[in-house]
Amino acid sequence: MGQLSGKTAIITGASSGIGAATARSLANEGANVVLAARREERLNDLAEELTNEYEVGVKVVETDVTKKDDVERLVEVTKETFGGVDFFVNNAGVMLLSFLKNDKVHEWEQMVDVNIKGVLYGIHAALPSMIEQGSGHFINVSSVAGHEVFPSSTVYSATKYAVKALSYGMEKELSGTGVRVTNISPGAVSTELPEHITDEEVLAMFKDREGRITLESEDIAHSVVYAVTQPSYVNVNEVIVRPMKK
Ligand code: NDP
Repeated sequence: MGQLSGKTAIITGASSGIGAATARSLANEGANVVLAARREERLNDLAEELTNEYEVGVKVVETDVTKKDDVERLVEVTKETFGGVDFFVNNAGVMLLSFLKNDKVHEWEQMVDVNIKGVLYGIHAALPSMIEQGSGHFINVSSVAGHEVFPSSTVYSATKYAVKALSYGMEKELSGTGVRVTNISPGAVSTELPEHITDEEVLAMFKDREGRITLESEDIAHSVVYAVTQPSYVNVNEVIVRPMKK
């Protein structure tokens, strides 16, 4: 029996990268996992892998976090299936780096919708029942770009600073309710995240960075496990994980 046996985690953005690794790590510790993202086929493949590997409950709920109804449904289905939500990993995100002068206003909107509104919808859908049950844990995935602004990260950073502000506000407001919050800020992790960048100048900059050391998704998943396996009086509020430099 794992140390999270009987607990249930919702992971948004579980179809790849950090979300998929987090689902694996939490299942490895015995937690039931609810996998949420838009690409249902990839979620089904992961669900099959986890079901074969671990003795935990696994549920797939196709979810677009920019749709409030989808996120409400995600939490409802989780409650119906597993009886409640212990951990909500607000991980879904997009990083459409661009220079402001290139005016990619639709990409700014998309980042605000996924990275900020998506996180808010998770809070809206899961927090009331966590307060009612007197326990629960939000893990909000921000970024080192939520601590400093890099050239071309202005809007992405704005969304990740917002995630950090939400986490810090939750810590202040929820202290005493039994609900914990952890803000996780990864440095560069090797995932699909940069593949959606369209700004040619940024793409050229990325080419220059080839060969630098990056983290693996599992490195961040381990931080999530660390945060949620502490005694209930311990509130791990901030984790920053950067790769070493060469
Ligand atoms: P990936 O691109 O591998 O994963 C992003 C996930 O977000 C996918 O599962 C994707 O699923 C999901 N997603 C995107 N849009 C939506 C949406 N509208 N509704 C539901 N799910 C959505 O990148 P990472 O694993 O790297 O990113 C995970 C988080 O980590 C993000 O918040 C990112 O900002 C953060 N981060 C990543 C860093 C890195 O260097 N990789 C560094 C710092 C932070 P689907 O497309 O199937 O919906």
